Amino acid sequence: MKILLVENDETIAQLVREAVAELDYILEWAIDGLAGLELAASSTYDLILLAVMLPDIDGINCCQKLRHQGDLTPIILLASDNSTPKPTELDFGIYDYLVKPFNPQDLLARIQALLLRDYNSLVPLRWELLSLDPSNFQVTYSGKLLHLTAQEYAILELFLRNSKRIFTQNTILDYLGSLEEIPSKIVVRSQIKSLRQKLKKAGAPADFIETIYGLGYQIKSPHNRIGSDGVDRKKPRFNQSNIKAIWEKNKQKYIARLTVVEQAVTALQSGNLSKTLQEKALQSVHTLAGSVGSFGFSEASEISREIEKLLKSEEAPVQSKIQKLSELVFYLRKELETDKVSLSKSSISEENIYSQCFLPVKPESRLLIVDDDRELAESLVEEAIAWGMQVEAVFDIAQAREAIACQKPNVVLLDLCFPDSADNGFELLAELNAVQPPIPVLVFTAKESFVDRIKVARLGGRSFLQKPISTVGVMEAIAYVLQQADLPLAKLLIVDDDPQVLDYLYSLLEPWGFKLILLDDPQKFWDTLETSVPDFLILDIEMPEFSGIELCQVVRNDPRWHELPVLCLSERKDSSILHQVFAAGADDYVQKPIVGPELIARLLNRLEREQMRRFLAEIDGLTGISNRRNSIQELTRLIHLAERHKKPFCLMLLDLDWFKDINDQYGHEAGDRVLAKLGELLKQNFRCEDVVGRWGGEEFAIGLYGMNKSQGVARLTTFLEIFRSTPFTDASDRVFHVSFSAGVAEYPADGTDLQTLYRQADRMLYQAKAAGRNRVLSI
Ligand code: GH3
Ligand code: MG
Ligand code: MG
Ligand code: MG
Repeated sequence: MKILLVENDETIAQLVREAVAELDYILEWAIDGLAGLELAASSTYDLILLAVMLPDIDGINCCQKLRHQGDLTPIILLASDNSTPKPTELDFGIYDYLVKPFNPQDLLARIQALLLRDYNSLVPLRWELLSLDPSNFQVTYSGKLLHLTAQEYAILELFLRNSKRIFTQNTILDYLGSLEEIPSKIVVRSQIKSLRQKLKKAGAPADFIETIYGLGYQIKSPHNRIGSDGVDRKKPRFNQSNIKAIWEKNKQKYIARLTVVEQAVTALQSGNLSKTLQEKALQSVHTLAGSVGSFGFSEASEISREIEKLLKSEEAPVQSKIQKLSELVFYLRKELETDKVSLSKSSISEENIYSQCFLPVKPESRLLIVDDDRELAESLVEEAIAWGMQVEAVFDIAQAREAIACQKPNVVLLDLCFPDSADNGFELLAELNAVQPPIPVLVFTAKESFVDRIKVARLGGRSFLQKPISTVGVMEAIAYVLQQADLPLAKLLIVDDDPQVLDYLYSLLEPWGFKLILLDDPQKFWDTLETSVPDFLILDIEMPEFSGIELCQVVRNDPRWHELPVLCLSERKDSSILHQVFAAGADDYVQKPIVGPELIARLLNRLEREQMRRFLAEIDGLTGISNRRNSIQELTRLIHLAERHKKPFCLMLLDLDWFKDINDQYGHEAGDRVLAKLGELLKQNFRCEDVVGRWGGEEFAIGLYGMNKSQGVARLTTFLEIFRSTPFTDASDRVFHVSFSAGVAEYPADGTDLQTLYRQADRMLYQAKAAGRNRVLSI
């Protein structure tokens, strides 16, 4: 067994060496990415241990390169801290992930898990009543012998040895591929199917191997569900008591729906059920089936589904069916009216939820209070000052607009209702949400209205506070919102025609720091999609006019939205719906009633993958710095920033001198090393807020915010000194040096947009070349 370790930290290397020695494995050590890639290309390893932080090419890039070269050796990433995005599954060919400092035992366990193929432990594996004996390849369930094919056996062993892991078809495929001739995904599916049948025949539960839709397969245990996988995700600051509060507020609406169903059943009994009433009842019971489960009424949800089925069926209503229906309706009411809500019994108020995650406000945060209740506003001003905030109170919307124009607050506390004027808070709320970046708003109201609550959420309001509330309670809510505003959020667009489901999803997801855009009218879908540019889309399938499937197809038909992750929701659980969902191009499917932790786990999983994918798409593989597309975006952002803050900005273009000759003389490989080194040196020598990107070939662009061109020229000239004194060697150890030429342009003196600045900098670069190269020039 041969393992390659790519790690520049000698202590870690020593640690790994000792750990691996215990297993009698051979360990080869490369001190940086390039050396690692070279070794990997010249020899075959069973496993690569790859550090993320390396002096030249970082681990993620190395990994990408290896895969591009068709090298599929399993890789375990060694991360220096938790900030490295956690790779998911095989997408980037990373099989596992360890954070330093790690425990050698842990490392060994991971290595062994990965090297299953040659894992020679002969200890029988057990799972519930199943036993698998690697010494004689025998598998029994509850003492009964199973006759498995070699592939079925291999898959089962894989599952048993990694019971916590979800295996994608690709993972299994890779695993099988190493054993036999190349199988296809269809083979994986059919093997799993027949394995399931054999297990079932021996008495195992049908879902012994569970399909995790959209993800893969996993061996099932009661504790082995998504969300309890032991992965330390961000802890939700969410309390079930707000679900309870939402239930309390909407209970009457659900009961009203139930009443419609009851009316329909009564009409059916007396033989005069109209088509209209039947349809209304169907709609109501459908909503009940989809919604109440989310509040913990799983029984009621099942009953509703049953009623829906009976009401829908075409056959003439026989007495037994009517009897059944009236019984079901009776039980449904009983279920919904007894408050045996399976939610937490605690009576934590909304105020306390905030104090649980209490954080002090950042000093100097500016709060604007907009409320016509002067007395209240004044006591809030006092409280806010005591919290170290800068605060201003205004008493109508017009004053509020003035105050905001004068100085942008960090957070606004807004009363919705101004009885003495025609204005209301909604318009201001919409305006504040349209500002980039939006100003967080807490809405404050004496009038309780569910419709308002949804409207506020839809306009981007961050919190809905019900008067009366203590001043401390308000400040805690503000602190919470400010803290949230600092988090990097993913933007979610959720489309569902049922406002209660939207409200539930809001209370479920908002505490995670997601920015939510809620839409209950699929007609407005396209506009909303275009204006909000979400990172993630959640679509209900059953909606009037347009179904979620149709919306998903439309999204996928537009190249701009090819990559947007889409998750569909539906009450249905038959396989045909899944087929439709995935055929329409959706990425994932969650069944209603929504199980909170499952939805969150899936969302995070998708988003992590998406971030990783974007990360890879933004970084140039050879130099490890931004690629052209990404740096254009970044440079544009810096120019806007300079414009807003009336600061200078400096754009510099840099081109290697005589690089064609360098390639010709020392070889392309050596040329590549020069480029990689330049990327690394640029990263080291410029500030992290500067933009450094590979513009193409041997040309690079650098953006310096807050610097004029003479400062820029000075910085880059110093850097030129560093670069040209860096020695390079070619394959036959000849040492050489490389220089560059550069042109510099300044915002706003030389231009006010990227294009003009680029042209100017390019002109100066040309002059630098003409003047003999090896220099930095500006006008
Ligand atoms: P000048 O000083 O006028 O810029 O001369 P030059 O040779 O650098 O200019 P020219 O644009 O003619 O050649 C650029 C060379 O850069 C040609 C190409 O082979 C090389 N090059 C571009 N991309 C890469 C790369 O990814 N790796 C290597 N090794 N060479 C590259
Ligand atoms: Mg619906
Ligand atoms: Mg060039
Ligand atoms: Mg050149």
